Amino acid sequence: SLLNRNMADPRAEPTFLAVKPDGVQRGLVGEIISRFRKLGYQLVAGKFVWPSKDLLHDHYAELSSKPFFPGLIEYMSSGPVFAMVWEGTDVVSVGRKTIGATNPRKSPIGTIRGDLAIDVGRNICYGSESVGTAEREIALWFTTDEVASYDLARRIGFIKKN
Ligand code: UDP
Repeated sequence: SLLNRNMADPRAEPTFLAVKPDGVQRGLVGEIISRFRKLGYQLVAGKFVWPSKDLLHDHYAELSSKPFFPGLIEYMSSGPVFAMVWEGTDVVSVGRKTIGATNPRKSPIGTIRGDLAIDVGRNICYGSESVGTAEREIALWFTTDEVASYDLARRIGFIKKN
């Protein structure tokens, strides 16, 4: 598929990332893009979305019975988020590691949440937890023609490929 077109590398995969409303309001969109780009990952789609509660109920369906769910929906629908699709080797697991733990105060220094947040209910970013959920979430937030297809210079040898 368009979202997983680098067939030469079986570990290349897509993920869905979003800067949450507090991250957008705090001016952290560029910082979060920068961390993933410097890792070597490729940004293939990005846009502001002020998510409807319907979209968020779909996105967070698995959490609907949790006590924090109503607050989570209020928080996530309080302003625009910056939704993104990123691609690369093991981007789902490395992305989760880069974002850090759900509770920012338990998230190591060096992670996005550990460095930039303190409150579990205002933890500034989201990242898919598996390739399966990433594909579902990308389809939920983006249309196919919003996802760009382009090669990076690494493919012509600027960065050594193992
Ligand atoms: N959340 C919360 N209180 C909690 C647990 C989670 O407000 O006790 C929020 C928090 O914003 C978190 C989101 O619900 O990011 C989704 O929870 P999940 O366990 O999926 O954490 P994540 O995958 O975002 O680290």
